[in-house]
Formats: sequence, C-alpha cells, structure tokens
Amino acid sequence: MLEHVKDPSDLPADNYLKPQELWELHKVLVDQANELLDAGQQTVSALTHERDLEADSLDVATTESDRDFSLRLAGRERRMLSKIKYALECIDNGEYGTCENCGESIGFKRLMVRPVARVCIDCKTQAEQLERGSRAF
Ligand SMILES: [Zn+2]
Repeated sequence: MLEHVKDPSDLPADNYLKPQELWELHKVLVDQANELLDAGQQTVSALTHERDLEADSLDVATTESDRDFSLRLAGRERRMLSKIKYALECIDNGEYGTCENCGESIGFKRLMVRPVARVCIDCKTQAEQLERGSRAF
C-alpha cells in the first residue's frame, strides 16, 4: 500500500501547481492506487477460490470464461496502476501537471477530474479530432 504525504512541503516544487494543489492530487493518486491494489488482491483470491471449485464443476466452459473476464479486468487495472505510478514519478520530478505534448500547464481542475492526464485539454481535443479524421478517411 502507498502512503499519503502528510504535508504539502514534503513534495518537491512543481512547474505549474501550487504545493497545496499538488498535495491534493498526490492524495487522490495514492487513494486510487491503493483501491486498485486492493481490488487486485481480491481478484487473485477469487481466482484461487475458483480453482478449488473447478474440480467439482460440470460447467467448465462457464468457469473458463469467467476467469478470462477476471484476467482482462486485472489487465486494465494493471495498466491504470502503471499510469498512476508514472504520475507519482512525475510529482517526484517536479514535472507533474505539464502537458507532454506542448509543455503548457494541464491545469488543476482537469487534473482533479483525471489525475493521470499527461496532456492538456487542447492537445487532447486535437488528438481526438485527428483520430476521428483518420477513421473517417
Ligand atoms: Zn498541450
């Protein structure tokens, strides 16, 4: 489990965010990471439990597809977790909240909605438009 930072001044200075803002976002990221770690543990114990039941189960096909679903879920959680860890690394480097595309501030409000965001809303919108464009042609 990850730990909360007790005081905003314990975090390195950030390019764009105030210490208090950075601290709040750090807290959100740590909470989300811990939730995922928690859910991951439950998935693992569910899988272990399932294996015990399998020997008696006549409906193996159902059991198999259930397990596939658990694994897919776990994969998505793992990807989210690595995004969160990356965001926490950026906080350590003082680079959190900086758009990776244009170098501008992502903005506190956007980050509170999506703390793992790596690009500003302008770049995100532009990327989505490009994506839509390439699909259309
Ligand atoms: Zn940008």
